[in-house]
Amino acid sequence: MSDIRITNCHTHLFHSKHVPVNYPYWALRPFKRMPLLIKGLERGMALIGQQPVAEKLSRLYRFQQETQEGSQRAILDNLRQHYPSNTRFVVLPMELSAFGYGKPVLSMRDQHDELAALRRDPDVGASVIPFATIDPRADPRATELWRAIDGLGFKGVKIYPRLGFAPDDPRLMAHVYPKMEELGLPLMTHCSRGGVQGRTLSDHWADRYTDPEAYIPVMKAFPKLRICLAHFGGQKDWAAYVNPDRVTPFADEYRDNWQIKIRKMICSGKYPGLWTDISYTLFHFEDYVPFLRLFLGGEAPDQDVDEETKLLRSRVLFGSDFYMTRQEELSERAVCFRLRNALGEDVFRQIAEENPVQWLGEV
Ligand SMILES: [Zn+2]
Repeated sequence: MSDIRITNCHTHLFHSKHVPVNYPYWALRPFKRMPLLIKGLERGMALIGQQPVAEKLSRLYRFQQETQEGSQRAILDNLRQHYPSNTRFVVLPMELSAFGYGKPVLSMRDQHDELAALRRDPDVGASVIPFATIDPRADPRATELWRAIDGLGFKGVKIYPRLGFAPDDPRLMAHVYPKMEELGLPLMTHCSRGGVQGRTLSDHWADRYTDPEAYIPVMKAFPKLRICLAHFGGQKDWAAYVNPDRVTPFADEYRDNWQIKIRKMICSGKYPGLWTDISYTLFHFEDYVPFLRLFLGGEAPDQDVDEETKLLRSRVLFGSDFYMTRQEELSERAVCFRLRNALGEDVFRQIAEENPVQWLGEV
């Protein structure tokens, strides 16, 4: 195997103390305080021959255990064992104090500080690329955000508009993007119809805030800003693309597919600052990797693919979404190796090593 330094552009280390106690963890709410209940159910299901259900519960248990780890360091240790020791991880915090479920035990400042301490850790610090995060409703003048970047040396910004704000929120347009563009800092943003959502936010508005087109005003105003739309449009839109037999005839992901839209926007050449990552989505590996491989021109060398493919190749980033992926069947390591096999060494190297360096602005 040739030498390669992987940068995983999308990981999470935040834990239960960064999440409001009232927030229902997907389907996990009743289990939140009773993780052993999941174990008990899992055994019960196995006993009555419901193996698939038992396996699912086992994965839920693993996910739950991860959120219950008491520190970002403990989660990082779990993550690092899946990768070669020189791998770097972009760590994306979550700001969950302003989306309608009350305040988490630990503040945003605490979360940033703990991540900064991890970055300084002599053993594992070199593997951490810390990003700062902001919800403009919680930090309207971006004071905490810039404390983390200017004061703690964070390397980029993560936003999550699905929590209830538009990407072109005037507070972001005034206090965040101009200085990011000036300093050459990358922006990571959640782009899928799933995930966390503001308590009072309708699905319609959550999708309007998350839609790739919602970034057009930002890209027009800040053409040099490098924006990564995470998840390449997300599970729902990939599922709709792969199987166009409509289960629900009016579902938006068929009418207005974000995976197609992201490819079109990138390949148009009109948005040079637009990037995407394959995190989470590609953990449904067998279903989606043949499509990804084709979109990226198979294993043909760069000079043999057309301009659009070349452009797309240069704008896709490797990321996993650990530990969200603990709910999936394949491990990080399993996906990483399969991806490397399926895309071929050159394309894998491009999305996992070369593109991240460009996106992070390290050149
Ligand atoms: Zn994520």
